[in-house]
Amino acid sequence: MATISSALQAVKQRIAAAARNAGRDPRETALLAVSKTFPAEAVRMAWEAGQHAFGESYVQEALEKIKALHDVPLEWHFIGPLQSNKTRPIAEHFSWVHGIDRLKIAQRLSAARPPNLPDLQVCLQVNISGEASKSGVSPLELPALASAVAKLPRLKLRGLMAIPEPTGDMAVQRQRFLQMRALLEQLNAQGFALNTLSMGMSDDLEAAVAEGATIVRVGSAIFGGRSARA
Ligand SMILES: *Cc1c(COP(=O)(O)O)cnc(C)c1O
Repeated sequence: MATISSALQAVKQRIAAAARNAGRDPRETALLAVSKTFPAEAVRMAWEAGQHAFGESYVQEALEKIKALHDVPLEWHFIGPLQSNKTRPIAEHFSWVHGIDRLKIAQRLSAARPPNLPDLQVCLQVNISGEASKSGVSPLELPALASAVAKLPRLKLRGLMAIPEPTGDMAVQRQRFLQMRALLEQLNAQGFALNTLSMGMSDDLEAAVAEGATIVRVGSAIFGGRSARA
């Protein structure tokens, strides 16, 4: 089995190769290591191999890891589904939240963000594949949500996030990610100054980087396979 360190290197090489192919600077795409379901020791190994930002999806599990790793200056990103009864610990313990898709959640995070901490960096999740069951704001409702979230204190609206429905067809992957970039550009043309596209995972990061991802969220390609839950 590959070590976490060599797996991290391999993922960084994939990002760099995809960036070069697209004529992008590899430094424009940050790697978020998705450590959900993996123990704190795995996160520590990744940190020792040079990784600094980690993504978690389950609040309770994340809080235990953050506590176990308080001695290392890691940057924690919450990437899971957001429930209104869990917004306080997220606002208190994370630097970023990627999956905001309704104003009520953003208002609760804003109210709960401790004033002594830097602004909570947030992305709006867009339902780019148009599936009724998935979370994410529709592209049509996106501008109104962005305007409302941008006005909230102690939140800093950074950009957009998507989890497109999985497909092995790279042309379809690229089409979804291209739509995301177009949505970001439309918002910026309306006066926003957004610089973040959080898109691309273990199986589609090449397509995401090609279309302008600035954060790829990669779990299994670094830490290995997960059980069915995640
Ligand atoms: C689990 C997860 C990932 C990582 O997925 P992999 O396929 O393991 O790379 C990325 N983003 C979100 C929102 C996730 O829940």
